[in-house]
Amino acid sequence: MNSSAPVSEAVIQSNLKVLATLPFADTRDFENASRGLLARHGGGTITDDSGHVVWDFNRYDFLAGDAPASVNPSLWRQGLLNCQQGLFEVVEGIYQVRGFDIANITFIETDTGVVIMDPLTAAETARAAHALYTEHRGPRPVKAVIYTHSHADHFGGVKGVMTQEQADSGEVLVIAPEGFTEHAVAENVYAGTAMARRAAYMYGAALPASAVGQVGAGLNQTLATGSITLIAPTVLITTTGETVNVDGLEIEFQMAPGSEAPAEMHFYLPKYRALCMAENASHSLHNLLTLRGALVRDPRVWAQYISHAIELFGDRTDVEFGAHHWPTWGQEEIREFLTVQRDLYSYLHDQTLRMLNQGLTGIEIAEQIQLPPALENAWSARGYYGSVSHNVKAIYQRYMGWFDGNPAHLWQHVPTESATRYVSALGGADRTIELAHAAFAEGDFRWAATLLDHVVFADASNMAARELLAKTYDQLAFGIENATWRNFYLSGAAELRGENFGTPTIATSPDMIAQLEITQVFDAIAISVNGPQAWDLDLSMDWIFADQGRQFRTTLKNGVFVAIEKKDSSPAQVTITLAKPLLPLFLMGQIERATAAGAVIEGDASVLATLLGTLQPGNPAFAIVTPE
Ligand SMILES: [Zn+2]
Repeated sequence: MNSSAPVSEAVIQSNLKVLATLPFADTRDFENASRGLLARHGGGTITDDSGHVVWDFNRYDFLAGDAPASVNPSLWRQGLLNCQQGLFEVVEGIYQVRGFDIANITFIETDTGVVIMDPLTAAETARAAHALYTEHRGPRPVKAVIYTHSHADHFGGVKGVMTQEQADSGEVLVIAPEGFTEHAVAENVYAGTAMARRAAYMYGAALPASAVGQVGAGLNQTLATGSITLIAPTVLITTTGETVNVDGLEIEFQMAPGSEAPAEMHFYLPKYRALCMAENASHSLHNLLTLRGALVRDPRVWAQYISHAIELFGDRTDVEFGAHHWPTWGQEEIREFLTVQRDLYSYLHDQTLRMLNQGLTGIEIAEQIQLPPALENAWSARGYYGSVSHNVKAIYQRYMGWFDGNPAHLWQHVPTESATRYVSALGGADRTIELAHAAFAEGDFRWAATLLDHVVFADASNMAARELLAKTYDQLAFGIENATWRNFYLSGAAELRGENFGTPTIATSPDMIAQLEITQVFDAIAISVNGPQAWDLDLSMDWIFADQGRQFRTTLKNGVFVAIEKKDSSPAQVTITLAKPLLPLFLMGQIERATAAGAVIEGDASVLATLLGTLQPGNPAFAIVTPE
């Protein structure tokens, strides 16, 4: 990032305005983020077995004091809050380790042991957090692990705190909401490669952390890059009001499916008068549509779950804690916090629909919508992770789809084609860059980016355009409050300057692959088939899963791979008899490894090779701000 531009006057002024308008004198968050600190980790790094750095405690040492000109002061404040690390007492009996990963790990003491909630992303960071807890609270046997929802930053570290054998024997319960395993692995099956590539831009894990670089991710600082593990749940929670007693500790659950995650739940602990809101209430506006890409979430039911939690538990709750950020203490403060969170999602939902019914489109609503002052000035409602702008467009998309009704937008040229025409119409590349310079000088970085984006898509080798666009993205990054927007701008600038960092994080692991359903693996095969290459093929295969007592007939015809679970009386061209764990090997093209491990292929083996020959894996380093 050394080549980043100096901070422009326009950004300096807009950042000063933030400082003057937001309630920086309200320091309750700082009190709450440090409250109950028992011990800090000594610093340095957490590494995996091969010495690779999984977590660096000193990465954000530069975050101290007042915001520099190159960071929005509101985002800087969030970074200061998020980078606090250590073991914290929530109340006597509930402890959190924060700042060891992007999420929190929570330790809830039972009569003779401990329940661990949300064991982080990586086994290495979870193990280190557990060790810090044990050092200060003494060794307590793990009685249960709770996964609040199906995102990897809440389960990936599970093997750092327990073993598969402990789950199998029932020694440690693994408690999760219904649908957990399916959703935990499903996302990786479909758009996984593209999401992981874009997540690299969103979280900025490969960017240097500095005052002109990555300063955090809003939800917390960044993702740990260690071993993602998974132990399937042994206790599934299905209904609100259901209770589980773990070693004398009663846990009362509230289901919240289809909210921040497809499988999610809240829970209440009567003994501690404590409420856990998982990831549905946090100290940032969350994402209705994460910038890495996902299915659009439903703000209406999300708000309803928060309302329901207030009704169910509000009068009985003295402390609220979650999967990210710091707790809230005091019945009145909790009610205020949850009400702000609820009203935030409701307001965005209701006003977006009101405005779209007036004929406005997503891009217009995003500019026009204004939060009520009480939400605008609530720190927990600020857009560090989600933003009002992209959430409003997500709501439009959820209800209306990509088309805004204007036929001029129905059949547009692709970016390289329209860019060539725009640049020509504007009088050529040099003239377009000149116009962009003028926009830059006026502080209209959004217009400068639009002009220069056209030049780059018309001619990716235009270095003057690339450099000015990179500098423009730097300015947009320096002024923006949202951490994920900042990371996208800075990652785009890096790509323009010739750096393609691919996909630096690991999105999947052998444990997750092992949990895939047979049908999910077949889906993964189907979406990898290169259609045109397979148009003329007509293949049939039987798959006999001896360990499951199940049989599938799969066909490839018209470029479509179809899997149907049934015995077919007509003979298939080839039959594969295997145990389910071997199926993913075929997806990866490793036939020899599969047969060495016991898979038996009968019939025309070349049929299998032909199928696998049509599979096209995703590209984890595709270009984003430059034409492919
Ligand atoms: Zn999370």
